[in-house]
Amino acid sequence: MSAKIRLYVEHPLGAGQSIPLERDQAHYLFGVMRQALGGHVALFNGVDGEWQAEITEAGKRGGTLTCVAQSKPLQMPPDLWLLFAPIKKARTDFIVEKAAEMGAARILPVGTEYTNSERIRQERLQAHAVEAAEQCGGTYVPEVCDLQKLSQLLDHWPAERQLMFCDEAEVGNALQLAAQTHSAAPWAILIGPEGGFSDKERKRLHAMEQAHVVSLGPRILRADTAAVAAMTLWQQSLGDW
Ligand code: SAM
Repeated sequence: MSAKIRLYVEHPLGAGQSIPLERDQAHYLFGVMRQALGGHVALFNGVDGEWQAEITEAGKRGGTLTCVAQSKPLQMPPDLWLLFAPIKKARTDFIVEKAAEMGAARILPVGTEYTNSERIRQERLQAHAVEAAEQCGGTYVPEVCDLQKLSQLLDHWPAERQLMFCDEAEVGNALQLAAQTHSAAPWAILIGPEGGFSDKERKRLHAMEQAHVVSLGPRILRADTAAVAAMTLWQQSLGDW
């Protein structure tokens, strides 16, 4: 038995455990996906791995799933944060979705001097991360944090966390992430806004002991492309690919 439908639930999972369905989940399973009593669904909650569950109650406004057997253990991503400056809505959604698929442990929208967007809808972005984990087979959902100022985040930057600083000023320079650099350390990737980093920010970042300044090639990439490219490079050199 291996269910095609995967659902994230905020409920403990274990053999024989019953999981009550919320209204929108019941609507999705029974209304949209046409599932019925006895059908199977894969569940994960970000903690207990993936479980195969059977539909044991089905109604218009709710239902119950019962866990049968674990089908995957919890697989944690590497301890990698993605810091990015929010851009237009659809492109910000894209960054969150791709970061969750590509194995970020935490997603941190940051306000920089040239950031276009002053607000984000954190709950909406978190829902995108959940959907991405549902569809990519992941058993972990990265936390999407509220928007915070980059300068304040750097004020309290953890001493051991290395920072892959993607600096558009280095476009075309051969500055790559060295494989095996601080391979056991926690890491973060920093992607700037459409307007790039200010001189003040660049100076501060270059002076950070934990910063590894990186170029993403001979062309300036849009921030969403840059986020995917940087995560690919990091995963290839230091991650779990
Ligand atoms: N307005 C900036 C300019 O014209 O120089 C470009 C900013 S770019 C659209 C957005 C972000 O993507 C940058 O702040 C940087 O973090 C990253 N990025 C894009 N292309 C890059 C490259 N070739 N090397 C390093 N970082 C890059």
